[in-house]
Amino acid sequence: MIDLEKRMISKAGGRFSVQIRDEDVHRFLSKVLHVDKQDCWIWGASENGRGYGQFYMKKRPWLAHRVSYSIFKGYIPSGMVVDHICHNRACVNPHHLRLATNQQNSQYRSGAAPRNSHSHVRNVYWLKDAKVWQVGIGLNHKYIYGGIFKSLDDAQECARKMREKYFSPEFQGN
Ligand SMILES: [Zn+2]
Repeated sequence: MIDLEKRMISKAGGRFSVQIRDEDVHRFLSKVLHVDKQDCWIWGASENGRGYGQFYMKKRPWLAHRVSYSIFKGYIPSGMVVDHICHNRACVNPHHLRLATNQQNSQYRSGAAPRNSHSHVRNVYWLKDAKVWQVGIGLNHKYIYGGIFKSLDDAQECARKMREKYFSPEFQGN
């Protein structure tokens, strides 16, 4: 018996849901870039501008970590969010994901974020619970992970170098 519920995913807020087909699963796994030292599965496709991976099904973007949870662990009940235990937004390893209530999640946020939780620096994102800055750029529908940094200055410098490398005319010409 196919457990249909395991392969369904709903939009946060439960506005609608779709079935995740086998071909979606294969396509999803083909976009995992590499596994890092912490066993994080680094998402290698587009990101949503806040460091979270994005995966398209039925012409709509879905958060990649929610898709991973829905494929490997099961249906996300309405009102629940999927939280990264590893604090790495680019990660889609199902073993690093857990369900949390919206309330738990916002408590998490309000407790840990510094006042400048949004860096206002391009390609730099604050990982609230790890208290580090993550650098990553989106390029040709790929998310390129740059690393994590304690200091915003270092993160900014890394983001600048990445843009220089990946957005240079030489690179674009390849
Ligand atoms: Zn992870």
